[in-house]
Order: sequence, then C-alpha cells, then structure tokens
Amino acid sequence: MPNNNTNKLTDLKVDTLKYFFTDIDDTLTEEGKLRDDAYSALWRLYHSGIKVIPVTGRPAGWCEMILRTWPVEAVIGENGGFYFSFSNANSETQTDHISETKREPQKVHREFWMTEDEQKENRLKLNKIQDEIFKTIKGAGLASDQFCRLMDLAIDFKEDVLELSKSEIDKIVEVFKNHGAQAKISSIHVNGWFGDYNKSKMIKKFCKIHLKKDFSDINEKSVFIGDSPNDEENFSMFKNSVAVKNIDVFLKNMTDKPKFITPSEGGKGFVETVNHLLE
Ligand SMILES: [Mg+2]
Repeated sequence: MPNNNTNKLTDLKVDTLKYFFTDIDDTLTEEGKLRDDAYSALWRLYHSGIKVIPVTGRPAGWCEMILRTWPVEAVIGENGGFYFSFSNANSETQTDHISETKREPQKVHREFWMTEDEQKENRLKLNKIQDEIFKTIKGAGLASDQFCRLMDLAIDFKEDVLELSKSEIDKIVEVFKNHGAQAKISSIHVNGWFGDYNKSKMIKKFCKIHLKKDFSDINEKSVFIGDSPNDEENFSMFKNSVAVKNIDVFLKNMTDKPKFITPSEGGKGFVETVNHLLE
C-alpha cells in the first residue's frame, strides 16, 4: 500500500532508538559538503550508544574510508551492492572498533550481493550502456567517483556537469532499463546496475548477518533518513522514515513517501532529526 501521509518531525517518537540508517548526499551533506554540525551529530549518536549505518549510492572506495574514519557501525554502498563492517562487532554491545584510548586489531568484513564473476560479467554489459548514453544524451557525464565503483555505473547529471533537464535524466534511466538493468535517480547521479539487489534488500541482509536479527525485529528501534526518490524503498520499509526538506520537489512523483519531513534541507534537517531524537 503506498503511503501518502507525511507528518511533522516533532511527531516522530521512537521508544528505544538503537539503529540510525542514513543516506549521505544532500541528507547529511549540503552543497556537497559534510558540515561540522552534521558530523558532530554523527558522533553524538555514537556517544548515545546508537549504531549509525550510512546507506548510499556512493562507491566502494568512499565506503572503505567512511567505515574507517567515521563513527559508524557499517556502511551499505553502491545502492545495496555490498556492505562493509568490522568483523569484531557484536550486536548486543557498543562496537569496539572505535576506541579513544587504543586501537584493537580489526578486520574489515566485505559482504557483496553478487560473486566476483557476476560483477565482471556485469561490468562488460554496463560499458555498453555507458557508450549508448554518451552517444544519445549530450551533456551527461561519467560520475567522477566511477573509478572506485565495483558494482554499478553512475552517470552524472548535476555534480560536475551542467544540470540536465528532467526529460534528459529520464532518457538516461530509459537506456539502463532497455538493457534490462535497474536504475535509480539520486540528487546528482543516475545509478544503474544488474542484479535484483537494492538498498532495502541489503539492509535486511546486513541485519541477518551482522546484527543476527530479522529486520522486522529492529524496525521499531530504527530510524531511516533520506532525501530523494532513490530512498523510496526505505521510506516504505522503515516504520520511522524521515526525509530532509529537499524531498519536497520529488514528492508528487513518489509512490512511497517518507513518514516525517524535517523543517530544513540537507545536513541542517539531519541535525534537527538528531536533536529531536536525543532530546
Ligand atoms: Mg541523497
């Protein structure tokens, strides 16, 4: 059933918040920057014993850095193609990979949706799609972070190129779909990939393997926050789904809407959500 009711952030109530799943671009960031108050809000969640899990379309190379340097439990990247976590994490206690006094030996666990052979095969098919997009949609660019991607193809329509029109963006999506690939529009890229995974499916897998729980057991204790149509499946799956105010321009074309919307856009809306929850 599509959800069409959106409420004010102040109506969001979570009895025992334990997991905070967050999109990155234009949810945590503003104009591409992670501002000090948003980064500090991540640490405040961590110090409150809440596990933060970024869920992003950003590539493996970014996720490796985020896992190692931000106060997070794990990172789900490339629209659900994988998650990275530290293998010494324990579902019942605060993770021990972030220590302010000493660093314990640790190993990164990398869980992929597809095998390495499948990934190689898919890359060849994605290369063909890339050629077709550049031939047919003038002004589309290869995302500058494409070189550190493992699973998908990201086409830039706004980050480092002159912004494309909605019909041009739709045309990019159409090329992916004509080749049998999935495609999602973020605030800056169209990401396309082969395989039946998505962010929500990888969240469920992460819960099973890493937290050793079914998603249904953690839904009540979780919040998800995002900003665009590529977060739609999470807006639907999470009981407590929030969008920052920049979602407004997309709402009329979305089937599954967030349950709550923040007063402000981007990182400011993220901080408002954390402030409200930690009050
Ligand atoms: Mg986003």
